[in-house]
Amino acid sequence: MSHNNTSPLLPSNIPLFDTHCHLDFTEISSQFEALWLRAQHAGVQRALIPSVGAQNWSRVKAMAHQYQGLYYALGFHPQFLDGMDEANWGLLDTYLAYNDVLCVAIGECGLDTTSPTPMAVQEEVLQRQLTLAKAHRKPIILHSRGAHNRMIQLVKQAKLIHGGVIHAFSGSYEQGMEWVRLGFYLGIGGVITYPRARKTRDAVSRLPAERFLLETDAPDMPIYGEQGQANEPKNVRVVLETIAILRSEALQPFALQLWENSNHLFSLNDY
Ligand SMILES: [Zn+2]
Repeated sequence: MSHNNTSPLLPSNIPLFDTHCHLDFTEISSQFEALWLRAQHAGVQRALIPSVGAQNWSRVKAMAHQYQGLYYALGFHPQFLDGMDEANWGLLDTYLAYNDVLCVAIGECGLDTTSPTPMAVQEEVLQRQLTLAKAHRKPIILHSRGAHNRMIQLVKQAKLIHGGVIHAFSGSYEQGMEWVRLGFYLGIGGVITYPRARKTRDAVSRLPAERFLLETDAPDMPIYGEQGQANEPKNVRVVLETIAILRSEALQPFALQLWENSNHLFSLNDY
């Protein structure tokens, strides 16, 4: 498979949306401008920068305001809960009260069994963000590691209105369908470019594509063949091409479907 930007498969005027990239993380933030330019050359017209906690809210907001096509989300990531306190919730309320049109979701948030924070605390922080998503009529960006069943349970109980996305989906077909039945989207990233990811490649070949979003999770989750390097938004193109091959989809209409899915979830249809 070709990993360069000039792949003949997809015309560069077909818009792509990287729905999850941490452009503010230190591995890539110093090359922000060059990296966004490369992404645009690869057809990436929009990207969403999720946050991890109060420590990077102002940064992701400022980055999103720097170039057209960038959006951001505000929330508490389960791996970064150390040191957070009640004042952080007040600050989040203040940010959300601005009603900034570029802030299109709550997140990323969720449960992670590898986080040093006790699961009971993680659950409380997640539940409060689910409540906030409802109150502010925004979709939620979920991070789930080792906690699929509990996440499903909590999200079901929350009875969300605007749904959300389960980011970096790496589950089975059955797990994917549980999210689909809850009205959720599945964020598909670099994991499916690895031949050994048989379970998820099989799931992605059969799950309903009306529920797919593209993402890189840059700088993490490098695509196959680029292990050890920082990932970047231009690689959503490789993810797209891989899904299309797995499903035998015609690339152009398929790309447009995923573009529309993304804009629908984040209510960007009239932009
Ligand atoms: Zn992330």
